[in-house]
Amino acid sequence: MEVLPVRQFTATAALRCFLEQCRINGGDIGFVPTMGALHAGHRSLIERAKQENSWVVVSIFVNPLQFGPNEDFDQYPRTLAADRALCEQIGVDVIFTPAPDDLGVLAPSPTQVMPPASMQSGLCGASRPGHFDGVATIVTKLLNIVQPTRAYFGQKDAQQLAILQRVVQDLNINTTLVPCPIVRESSGLALSSRNQYLSDAEKAQAPQIYAGLSAAEQLFRQGERQSRKLIGQVESQLATAPKIVLEYVELVDSETLTPLSEVSKTGLLAVAARLGKTRLIDNVLLRTRKPIVAIDGPAGAGKSSVTKMVAQQLGLFYLDTGAMYRSITWLVMNSDVRLTDEPGIAELANQATIEVTETYVKVNDQDVTQAIRTPEVTANVSAIAAQGAVRQVLVRQQQEAAARGGVILEGRDIGTHVFPDAELKIFLTATPAERARRRQKDLERMGQPAEDLAALEQSIAERDAKDSNRLIAPLRKASDAVEVVTDGMTIEQVVAKLVAMYRSVAG
Ligand code: AMP
Repeated sequence: MEVLPVRQFTATAALRCFLEQCRINGGDIGFVPTMGALHAGHRSLIERAKQENSWVVVSIFVNPLQFGPNEDFDQYPRTLAADRALCEQIGVDVIFTPAPDDLGVLAPSPTQVMPPASMQSGLCGASRPGHFDGVATIVTKLLNIVQPTRAYFGQKDAQQLAILQRVVQDLNINTTLVPCPIVRESSGLALSSRNQYLSDAEKAQAPQIYAGLSAAEQLFRQGERQSRKLIGQVESQLATAPKIVLEYVELVDSETLTPLSEVSKTGLLAVAARLGKTRLIDNVLLRTRKPIVAIDGPAGAGKSSVTKMVAQQLGLFYLDTGAMYRSITWLVMNSDVRLTDEPGIAELANQATIEVTETYVKVNDQDVTQAIRTPEVTANVSAIAAQGAVRQVLVRQQQEAAARGGVILEGRDIGTHVFPDAELKIFLTATPAERARRRQKDLERMGQPAEDLAALEQSIAERDAKDSNRLIAPLRKASDAVEVVTDGMTIEQVVAKLVAMYRSVAG
């Protein structure tokens, strides 16, 4: 494929015009907002965006609205040439470096986005008044300009991420925010554009911040749930590093950011500290929920059989998303709505109550376990599952159904779209040659006429290409998914491997 040089736009109008053309060409737009001085943490976000979308936009803008009067706005590192080279290397399509007046931040009293005060009163908000209003305002503007399918944010700035999730929800912004794990140096120190301010002596002690968080995480894994004890563990570890001046250690609900006295769902244990003039932040998530397992991969790789067997061995709930699409198809076929009426079907899906359990499927309290498996439903389900609006409605229902954890799902975009924060992501695949051999054996077993192996292999490869390029829910391997190539493995060996992977994640 031809490698195109990265385009750089400073004008909102030029960027919008370019993205209009991208949309006409089709495919998803992934967006990574940054303040530049890009490092491996940013790189991980950009690479993920590249893997999960057809187009990638990176913005570089040192946002004056999020700096307080005594903060480091003027000194903040600006390294555009190096940032551009990194973006080019990864294959970013566009760098957006807006002029401040183009974003309206210099206007005398601009409209501001003000996230709930309750989410700003603790953690960094306590010492940085107005900071998150500034972040939310700029990010909202950027999301309105770029209108991406997905926008990527680091878990490193956990308060920012929780607030932006809330802003996107409250303002009905049509973008999925994808949280990305914290990238660290081998010492454990979280990467930050501000690490370059540290002296050698400060740098030597900085890893103690993560050491403290890890010690608390260890205690949590051993069963400790009390906030007081977990926070105390971090504080006592940090007390051994005299150059670290603690600003806060807090344990809050990871979504609402309200302080917790004990962890019952997901706790965010977060630290801010000063080393000399440099302020560093870091955090860990403490989850009581059992992991969510997302299995994606091409057709014919044995996903559904493997998933069912893994679910059974581990006592996980297998959420059959296919049964949900079948249920809606059945509902449409038994209503006045036409199969091509995408908004009508999305509305029907939104009003429907679908209950998928291990033993039955019900739609609006009616048992449809058998009815959704008829050839008529099978013939229509893929057309309905290809409707973007219907998918949006069902993805939300799937997220709600699996939120408590201990759930396994399989599909094409579970790890990239439905559960981008699943604890375990597996890309289950086999070479087209292997899948052709398996298919041939299946045909033989069923007493059906044999097909030419080379022709089978070619049609499998063609189907893979089609699935990877489809506009709605294309097949994509999440950048943090573990690829399992099952060539030469029996189904029992595959299941055993996945069970072992789950156990190492679940602890
Ligand atoms: P910034 O340029 O500091 O505004 O950061 C831009 C994005 O990169 C934010 O979503 C940050 O959370 C993310 N980011 C910064 N450092 C890291 C890191 N060490 N690991 C993962 N993401 C990061």
